[in-house]
Amino acid sequence: MTSHEIRKAFLDFFKSKEHLIVPSAPLVAKNDPTLMFNNSGMAQFKDFFLGNGTPPSKRIADTQKCLRVSGKHNDLEDVGFDTYHHTMFEMLGNWSFGDYFKKEALEWSWELLTEVYKLPKERIYVSVFEGSKDDGVPFDQEAFDIWKELIGDENRIILGNKKDNFWEMGDTGPCGPCSEIHIDLRDQAEIDMISGKELVNKDHPQVIEIWNNVFMQFERKADKSLVLLPAKHVDTGMGFERLCMAIQGKKSNYDTDVFQNTIQVIEQMSGKKYGENGTLSTNNYVDVAMRVIADHIRAVAFTIADGQLPSNAKAGYVIRRILRRAVRYGYSYLGFDEPFMTKLVPVLADQFAEVFPELKAQQDFVGRVIEEEEKSFLRTLETGLKKLDDIIEQATAEKKDVISGEVVFELSDTFGFPSDLTALIAREKGFKIDEEGFQKALQEQKDRSRKDSAKEATDWVELNEGSDFEFVGYDEVSAEAQIIKYRKV
Ligand code: ATP
Ligand code: MG
Ligand code: MG
Ligand code: MG
Repeated sequence: MTSHEIRKAFLDFFKSKEHLIVPSAPLVAKNDPTLMFNNSGMAQFKDFFLGNGTPPSKRIADTQKCLRVSGKHNDLEDVGFDTYHHTMFEMLGNWSFGDYFKKEALEWSWELLTEVYKLPKERIYVSVFEGSKDDGVPFDQEAFDIWKELIGDENRIILGNKKDNFWEMGDTGPCGPCSEIHIDLRDQAEIDMISGKELVNKDHPQVIEIWNNVFMQFERKADKSLVLLPAKHVDTGMGFERLCMAIQGKKSNYDTDVFQNTIQVIEQMSGKKYGENGTLSTNNYVDVAMRVIADHIRAVAFTIADGQLPSNAKAGYVIRRILRRAVRYGYSYLGFDEPFMTKLVPVLADQFAEVFPELKAQQDFVGRVIEEEEKSFLRTLETGLKKLDDIIEQATAEKKDVISGEVVFELSDTFGFPSDLTALIAREKGFKIDEEGFQKALQEQKDRSRKDSAKEATDWVELNEGSDFEFVGYDEVSAEAQIIKYRKV
């Protein structure tokens, strides 16, 4: 099955179970001060679980664009180094708002995975909540019994603790046990050597979580007590790229057709090959760079298409950082010294034209914004990297293993190196950075500029949000730093 067919089969399946299929919410979380980006399928339905508002149907399903690069869920550091965490990914989900509960949800998960997708039953593991004395929540016998009936083998039902198998929206609010579905994609020879059960949830890159079924049956009160909810809800989320890997018989998300088009274009542009020594190596930096780029371009392109331009603050800065991280990898390991990320936009726009048409519709605009960001960063990248090399050389001579906070600040201020990028490069060479010293230098500069502010009032705006802006050029603030300008159209 192609990834298109896999997505369609999910939506068709839940449609046949009387679910309303809705579009993905934008990546940029609207009207939710607690969330910068949508990081799960349920985010757009939060109000319904809290009892504010009525859903258009008691059963809903969709594929949600998610971004996990900030806050509680931040997978950025893993991206490129493992083969199954992305910055942006699709979360397939089905929901019951006070309608069906555990039995239907788990039976349908099993039916979809084993009968529609035909995943081998003996490779599937599930987890259920073991219970918590502190909270007075018992072991989830109900989920256990349903799984036992479906799977027929108790050995493949694993008990999980509060950290992995109890979901809470926040300090207060809806919560409940969850049941995860994992799949074992290891070679049979490896399975025969080690007991599979030991490996579930232990971060083996081929024994991975694909789907989580959350059962909201309690409400956590301010005094920490739990009360039963009058209406019980189901919230599920399945990683689309991981599902494609399992169905397509691959061992890495990047080997599926979700990423292959992009990786092939990166190979053509760089003249280098992906996976010379197998696609699972995590210490070959050509491979890491290609994975980072193939991943980050999705996050950046779709976020811009959803209205968040790169900027120097908040969500805009997160996007700028992700883009610069990818540009640095391309520059250092693939030899790209001209904009290249922008050339990947049409590949994505075509690939996702049907499911997320917003990118195709704004392809040229998104491409231009990315190109200007790349140009601006590439202008200072080489000088900054040289500077960092000198600093590392000096630190080595002085037998230090920490890069000072002031240097990290200078690299950020003058060369546009986000501190996490400096940290990443430093880490590659065995150094740490003084994060505290950096924050201090940053705060000092903020204090200085607050005093200087209020001077500027021009037609130009540094964008934080909104998409009805067009790129109009960049402004040389000084010889080293450029600020990209957008104008409201
Ligand atoms: P993991 O333990 O692998 O980090 P999770 O428990 O944080 O996953 P959930 O919050 O339960 O993930 O999200 C539901 C599903 O979304 C997961 O079962 C997984 O398939 C998928 N998923 C989560 N994070 C990512 C990511 N960064 N990239 C790709 N898929 C993801
Ligand atoms: Mg996670
Ligand atoms: Mg998990
Ligand atoms: Mg999970």
